[in-house]
Amino acid sequence: MKTDRADILTCLRNSGDYVSGQQLCDRLGVSRTAVWKVINQLKEEGYRIESVSRKGYRLVESPADVYSQSEIASRLHTKWAGRNLHFFESTGSTNPDAKRFAEEGEPHGTTVVADRQTAGRGRRGRSWESPAGKSVYFTIVVRPHFSPDKASMITLVMALAVAEAISEVTGLEAGIKWPNDIVVNGKKVVGILTELSMTPEMNETQFLVAGVGVNVNQDSAEEFPEEIRNTATSLKMEAGCSFARAVLLERILAWFEEVYDAFEQTLDLSGLKERYENRLVGRDAVVRVLDPAGEYNGISRGINETGELIVEKEDGSGTVLVYAGEVSVRGLYGYT
Ligand code: ATP
Repeated sequence: MKTDRADILTCLRNSGDYVSGQQLCDRLGVSRTAVWKVINQLKEEGYRIESVSRKGYRLVESPADVYSQSEIASRLHTKWAGRNLHFFESTGSTNPDAKRFAEEGEPHGTTVVADRQTAGRGRRGRSWESPAGKSVYFTIVVRPHFSPDKASMITLVMALAVAEAISEVTGLEAGIKWPNDIVVNGKKVVGILTELSMTPEMNETQFLVAGVGVNVNQDSAEEFPEEIRNTATSLKMEAGCSFARAVLLERILAWFEEVYDAFEQTLDLSGLKERYENRLVGRDAVVRVLDPAGEYNGISRGINETGELIVEKEDGSGTVLVYAGEVSVRGLYGYT
């Protein structure tokens, strides 16, 4: 049933004109009654669909921000990203869900989307604020053919994809705060958490999950908890208008597929470094590296081809390559 709905929506949207009931039946191999039932359900959900005898059905308007399995699936044009899609109204966190599906053998590109997370997570056990109806939360499974030491680059690959999608959909300038945050006007709109699962022999990557949270339609800072009010923002707060989450998610998955495929050709960031660095915030400026082994200041000089941040230490003791795993970076006078 779910697939029928997505397929019918896809046909109507792609056609932009009337599609006869018979055409829908033939194309999807379902009965006239099945088509009629789906059309009625869609109308109840707020889709405006015109039915004209002898012409068929035409999608006049989609409701503003429908976020459902069929709405998302009907928009996808990807080869593998999101093609195997799970949608939950609410879940603890999409990363463990995706890991479970991956462990059960689901394919490369499997994606878990939720409207709300009750235990959204960030790096190092931090939490990710995940209210219902406002944001995009999803996790994608990738089954790479590379060794675990390359895994941290996927965080940068995802960051680039999300930044490209946000710029395309909203027109906002989406910057990347190395390695995993997207910022707009100096505030954080996106967090990314990548986790790795190794083979039992511990020498190969079994799969990776990359989880993403995007603040989309929050109206004001008051909607965020006190402790992040000064550092967090939403796309709506920055652009002044709301966005359809399904549209944004479709673009993120499309960009991720493109950027990931480019990464896979070389298994490093050589083909993507320039694009990533063009979005890097705090480049050639003084940053504070919050390394658990000892904090220090230095000048950020961009990234190398394996995704480490190149930092010239302020005390003149040389250049360090900062590895993404455990480290956060701050501008000297604020979050970026
Ligand atoms: P940092 O942002 O300090 O560099 P990080 O990259 O390690 O940290 P993440 O794992 O990306 O952090 O995200 C978790 C942190 O993000 C939380 O500790 C909190 O400060 C902040 N945060 C939590 N929820 C949101 C949200 N919805 N929007 C923006 N920031 C959030």
